[in-house]
Amino acid sequence: MDFALTEEQTAIFDMAYAFGQEHIAPFARQWESEGTIPKTLWPQIGELGFGGLYVSENSGGSGLTRLDATLVFEALSMACPSVAAFLSIHNMCAKMLDSFANDDLKSRIMPEVLSLNTVLSYCLTEPGSGSDAAALKTRAERTNEGYTLNGTKAFISGGGYSDAYVCMVRTGEDGPKGISTVYVEDGTPGLSFGALEQKMGWKSQPTAQVQFDDCNIPSGNLVGTEGDGFKYAMMGLDGGRLNIASCSLGAAQAGLDMTVQYMSERKAFGKSIDQFQALQFRLADMEIELQAARTFLRQAAWKLDQGAPDATKFCAMAKKFVTETGSKVVDQCLQLHGGYGYLADYGIEKLVRDLRVHQILEGTNEIMRVIVARQMLAQR
Ligand SMILES: Cc1cc2nc3c(=O)[nH]c(=O)nc-3n(C[C@H](O)[C@H](O)[C@H](O)COP(=O)(O)OP(=O)(O)OC[C@H]3O[C@@H](n4cnc5c(N)ncnc54)[C@H](O)[C@@H]3O)c2cc1C
Repeated sequence: MDFALTEEQTAIFDMAYAFGQEHIAPFARQWESEGTIPKTLWPQIGELGFGGLYVSENSGGSGLTRLDATLVFEALSMACPSVAAFLSIHNMCAKMLDSFANDDLKSRIMPEVLSLNTVLSYCLTEPGSGSDAAALKTRAERTNEGYTLNGTKAFISGGGYSDAYVCMVRTGEDGPKGISTVYVEDGTPGLSFGALEQKMGWKSQPTAQVQFDDCNIPSGNLVGTEGDGFKYAMMGLDGGRLNIASCSLGAAQAGLDMTVQYMSERKAFGKSIDQFQALQFRLADMEIELQAARTFLRQAAWKLDQGAPDATKFCAMAKKFVTETGSKVVDQCLQLHGGYGYLADYGIEKLVRDLRVHQILEGTNEIMRVIVARQMLAQR
């Protein structure tokens, strides 16, 4: 058993970290107040090979492992978890397309997807179905040329901003087996968007409903096989959960680093506050919790890379544990900054707001426990 990163993995982390510190961190607050990430950022990220992190090299992707990808998201989220998480969603979609789309569709869209000239959104949730995603109602009726879509997707990260939407829609019976995945390009007649949602965090990412009103797509935009869409959507989520957890980890590490620095500068009762043992213990606890979270996350990623039978369970456990640890740590960081932690200038309150949603999306942390408990009970 070897817990060390390889030289190549260290180089991947360092490259992502350096990019984030130069091209994302200095602008993160501005993008948050503007409510958008400049589109020009994405092709720059694409040049690093981050548009298809675990898309195979044969298909033009970077061919990284899931473990390698967690390093990218950990490093980028040290600059801004909202930007890093948005890239995670694109990568989840890119991998679904690479794995399941037919060759025609892939040759048409993948080059632009990989270069991040085409930014992708993932559309599963609907106003009436979130955790119970298989209850989705958006319909895709077969026509001579393809499908006509009608329905609404809710909470879509990148809604109205992305260049294309990977959508789970109902082509058949009720339940998971009646769901298919389709690719819908921006500008398709009948595709429209709701108003931008006002959110607690992830403010630089536009979030909106995605609406289909007699939206016609060609049959070539079906991804994979009709009726297998729910399976594809769930397969995408295993890796997505690791990535979201990595975003919590990196952001919390950045918060802890800032806090250690701040505590050496801030004085109270005649000494710097890092001299109070009660506070040193809190630092130690945060370090212990983050290191445990990192080890657990990388083990789950390794399981997914190995195709281990319990990979889904480990991805769910890691997602729950790491996202909750991340939020707990940044909340403590805010406390250790005193009143300054509450001020936007110090960068901590943004982390508290950004990380909160990681416990809700890509499957809520309650659903993570449903997955774990289901597997435990099945093994009896
Ligand atoms: C900022 C943001 C961005 C998002 N981006 C996307 C996106 O890009 N694409 C996308 O498809 N979706 C996206 N989502 C949606 C997100 O995935 C859903 O909000 C999430 O899956 C929960 O669904 P829900 O909000 O309908 O809550 P519900 O499913 O209504 O759940 C409400 C509560 O009940 C609990 N609960 C539900 N069922 C069970 C159960 N069986 N056992 C125990 N507890 C249960 C939940 O855990 C939760 O606490 C986003 C959400 C947010 C907030």
